[in-house]
Amino acid sequence: MVEGTITRRFGRNNGHSTQIDIKFENCKITITKKIKFIKNPAGADDSAFSKFKQNFKDAISRFMNNSFKLIMTGDDCPCREIPIEIKLVEDNNGYPLNMMVGSSDSSPSGTNGARIQENDRTGTPDIANANTYAHEAGHFILGANDEYRGNNTNAPVFNDNSLMGNYHQEGYQEAEIKARHFQFVKDWFEGHFPPANNCPVTLVKIGPKKEITVPIRDLRAAIEDLPETPVGNGTCQLVKERDTPGGGFAVKCKGKCAQYRCVSSPTMTLQGTNVTLRCKCSQ
Ligand SMILES: [Zn+2]
Repeated sequence: MVEGTITRRFGRNNGHSTQIDIKFENCKITITKKIKFIKNPAGADDSAFSKFKQNFKDAISRFMNNSFKLIMTGDDCPCREIPIEIKLVEDNNGYPLNMMVGSSDSSPSGTNGARIQENDRTGTPDIANANTYAHEAGHFILGANDEYRGNNTNAPVFNDNSLMGNYHQEGYQEAEIKARHFQFVKDWFEGHFPPANNCPVTLVKIGPKKEITVPIRDLRAAIEDLPETPVGNGTCQLVKERDTPGGGFAVKCKGKCAQYRCVSSPTMTLQGTNVTLRCKCSQ
């Protein structure tokens, strides 16, 4: 077992910091965040507060928990697959989260705590709320910076459906946490298990995968690596389906589309020695 605390800086000009408790044990990495949930206003309805808290926890789980894994390749490594778990623990000495029951505004996070509005800014749809809960957790759990224009001084802007980017414009369903937000986990792990020991480490998204491009000879392994049911936001994505009595797998598309339906057979294109499988939504 290896344990540590990582300090990361985030926010405008890296003006805030967060402490990340991280542990590697039994081929799993766990990031634990202790949180003190504060009902605000204090007189707010208890059941409304619990519901809000649960929605907040669900959003973290959906966007971040087990969304990436490390893979060690080599014949003599301690593990092959190492999923990264995000665990929230309620603790009175934890990071203070002012849960603004029933209110609507922006939700700032800083070194000493955050204020989470139950509803996003006026004019944004309800679907935005979960994105914003998880976005704020991206700051205070992972130490990720903002990636949208305007609040990212000295940090790069990304337009790739990032949870830390402008999902109001790019789409709420499409937003996802990115490998770069977990890069520090890989760096930490490699500090303890240097790749020079014949066990190189790669950081891999667990899902959803809407598209894969692999050398034809690796296609079978890539399909076996797919989940059997849609993961993450559950959007239309590649899944494997048990196909033959011998236990082989076929590849299908399953999940939700914002409009239309998820076409069950992926399109397949060949280019040189690579093959691309892609899911699409269509009428
Ligand atoms: Zn932010």
